[in-house]
Amino acid sequence: MRRSRPSMFYEFLAYVSAGFLLGLLVSYPGWGVALGVCLWALYQMRQYNRLMNWLQREDQSEPPESPGAWGELLDELARHQKHAQSREQDLKAIIARFQQSTAALDDAIVIIDRHNCLEWWNSTANTLLGLRPGDRGKPLLNLVRDPRFVRYYRKSNYQEPLQLSSPANPDIHLQYQISRFGEGDRVLVARDITRLVKLEQTRQDFVANASHELRTPLTVIRGYLETFLDQELPRPLQRGMSQMQQQAKRMESLVADLLLLSRLESTQHISDEQPIRIQSLIAQIAQDARDLSADRGHIISLEVDPEHDLIGQELELQSAFSNLVFNAVRYTPGAGEIHISWKVDARGGHFSVRDNGIGIDPMHIPRLTERFYRVDESRSSASGGTGLGLAIVKHVLMRHGAQLSIESRSGKGSTFSCHFPPDMLRSLNYQDSAAG
Ligand code: ADP
Repeated sequence: MRRSRPSMFYEFLAYVSAGFLLGLLVSYPGWGVALGVCLWALYQMRQYNRLMNWLQREDQSEPPESPGAWGELLDELARHQKHAQSREQDLKAIIARFQQSTAALDDAIVIIDRHNCLEWWNSTANTLLGLRPGDRGKPLLNLVRDPRFVRYYRKSNYQEPLQLSSPANPDIHLQYQISRFGEGDRVLVARDITRLVKLEQTRQDFVANASHELRTPLTVIRGYLETFLDQELPRPLQRGMSQMQQQAKRMESLVADLLLLSRLESTQHISDEQPIRIQSLIAQIAQDARDLSADRGHIISLEVDPEHDLIGQELELQSAFSNLVFNAVRYTPGAGEIHISWKVDARGGHFSVRDNGIGIDPMHIPRLTERFYRVDESRSSASGGTGLGLAIVKHVLMRHGAQLSIESRSGKGSTFSCHFPPDMLRSLNYQDSAAG
């Protein structure tokens, strides 16, 4: 509880009055008042010195005992100091616990300041990212130099994590995720996913090997079936054989798609990119689509930007684009319209296939690119699809840094679009002027 003490003003009055009374006794009241003021000033100076000495001590000792207003001030200061000390202890304990808990994490955590320099990291970051105590204050991009990481770091959108091998050990696979906080600061979390990557690799190898092994027996079966079907066969046998041939063909396409998909999955990015003459590629796909449509009489129209080509892996893109166009033919009734377009704007290049076919209920759209996902098993089997087409499209686009968007309504047709970033485009005008 706070002690009630006389204020400094009353102390001053007491000194002056005492001096005045003393002065009266010796008939010099004025000198008495002056003496009182001097004594009061000396007292204040002494108390001030005691206070300064106490404040300058670092031994957390009790404040000097003092009567009056100075005592009150010293008590108040001591109370504040104790409060600040106990808050400091609490904060130190919180920081120590935070450091202990982050050190116990298996994930690397790095705090990066607004100037992109390293501010703090936990001990796992030393192992996973190869950081050293002397790296504090250094730019992060000087230490993690992989161009894919640099591109990811400079992006403003960190919704998707990035998978890369560790800069400290190429056998460790890391998943990087960045989040922003404060005023331009970032926190980077790197998780060791080596086990997951190995499991995924084993799965991919298994699918690739199994598909590869199935190819030879299938070719033999198909060869024999073709030979038998060339002979004059009794009618029921003929029907059975031609159904067997149809199913064998389907299995062959399934095996081919599985092999292509596992090849696409084996690396995340294309390595052999070249400029692609997109006009002739689209014209060829449109011709193949007309052949597939045959006497179903689809109306296939084209609209192609003549000034921009695409950079990428031609066979992969051809496979992705033809999957979309052939799907449009397969899922659009005869005489339906199919429009294929290649347009370029400030956001990049856009390849789209629009049809006015059977369409897809919106609830199926998020799952369409999953392997073997089918809206309706019967319509898909009838169309001869493998259920892998859109999964292949998604993987090809991912490897080209592009994205697939799907707009569709049941009974109203569909639009499948592939959006390529501007750095995957090549301006033909520039080429011409460069050549000129
Ligand atoms: P599938 O080989 O079965 O066609 P896809 O992966 O290519 O497999 O397509 C997945 C499913 O998406 C198909 O089963 C089909 O139901 C639907 N689909 C794809 N394209 C279209 C389209 N243009 N119109 C309507 N449905 C489509």
